[in-house]
Amino acid sequence: MLTPLQRQILGAIAGSDGMSRTDLVQFSGMSKAAVSGVVREMIDAGFLFEAETVSSAGQGRPSVRLMVHPEGAYFAGVSLLQDPAHMVLINLHGDILSRVTFPLSNVPQKLAEDIAVALPGLLEPHTGAAEKLLGLGVTLSGFIDEHQSTCVQSALLGWRDIPLASLVSEATGVDVAIENDAKALAVSEKRFGHARELSSFSLVSHGAGIGSAHFIAGHLYRGAHGGAGEIAHSTIELNGAPCRCGKRGCLDTIASVNAVMQAAKAEKLNASSMAELEQLALQGNNQAVRILHHAGTALGLAVSHLIQINDPEMILIAHQEGAFNGLFGTVVQQSIDANVLPGVAGMTPVRTFSLNDDTWARAAASISAHRFLAGPDSTVR
Ligand SMILES: [Zn+2]
Repeated sequence: MLTPLQRQILGAIAGSDGMSRTDLVQFSGMSKAAVSGVVREMIDAGFLFEAETVSSAGQGRPSVRLMVHPEGAYFAGVSLLQDPAHMVLINLHGDILSRVTFPLSNVPQKLAEDIAVALPGLLEPHTGAAEKLLGLGVTLSGFIDEHQSTCVQSALLGWRDIPLASLVSEATGVDVAIENDAKALAVSEKRFGHARELSSFSLVSHGAGIGSAHFIAGHLYRGAHGGAGEIAHSTIELNGAPCRCGKRGCLDTIASVNAVMQAAKAEKLNASSMAELEQLALQGNNQAVRILHHAGTALGLAVSHLIQINDPEMILIAHQEGAFNGLFGTVVQQSIDANVLPGVAGMTPVRTFSLNDDTWARAAASISAHRFLAGPDSTVR
């Protein structure tokens, strides 16, 4: 459908605010005539369109910016992080066009068939989507191999070495990539979200569990075994509480939403969410203040380590609605500032945003979009 060069050009334009043909001559090293021919083909195929702008100096001929046509291609994404499983359809701008849910099965073959059964319902509301569906992504909690095809291990789903991408691809007839949840969200933020302009950043997802992922020099960093970013099981308290992983004192046992809510339950506090616990703290409940302070300090400490190790341009924290606009969020920031080298305190901006029902499925779809736009080798070990 598109040649490797055309995909490179599409990827470059998608990562910008539009490029002129002259920009593309510089980018590709091709002649102006050759670029014009390639661009014409891509406009005819529906991947690009021309947006006219006046030159900044206000003189000469207006330059024509080439933009990615949002309806040039579509991608589906499935999140296995909740039951029912969520599935969305996105376009080349990352806009969500439709969504479906179906009961989550942890039997791989059954899951692949369920996705295949749900897919037509996802595509049906959007004319032309079936013909232009270029990939399907699946995101889950666990280790994924570097080819984004095999789930090496998932405690949540009880899986080991499951070739999920090929199972789903055989069932649906679509090109499939799978990815760890936090890594998929980092890709989604890089491609369509808060990190579009960033080359190196770390994302932390704060939910029932904690995840993180890193972009380094423009690439998702995977690590030697796919485990880069597993801060949830970094030891934060020596000889601390036992963790489900078998160790003690992991970040997850102190700062995850599950850990915080368990601590609140142990204190018999009347709170069923972080937001409600914040409300109690605001009313002066000492136990609520102590729990949020303890958890926030731990998360800030872990984030300070990310900053010391990677020196990212930004830390992005994705969190549950209402979890970061009170004491917890304030303590996290204070703990980061207190635990990085004094000379760099305050130099790494921390940006927070709320997770919603669509977040993980859209992140899954983003994986396929990113592979299409940046190529399958878009991650580094
Ligand atoms: Zn652990």
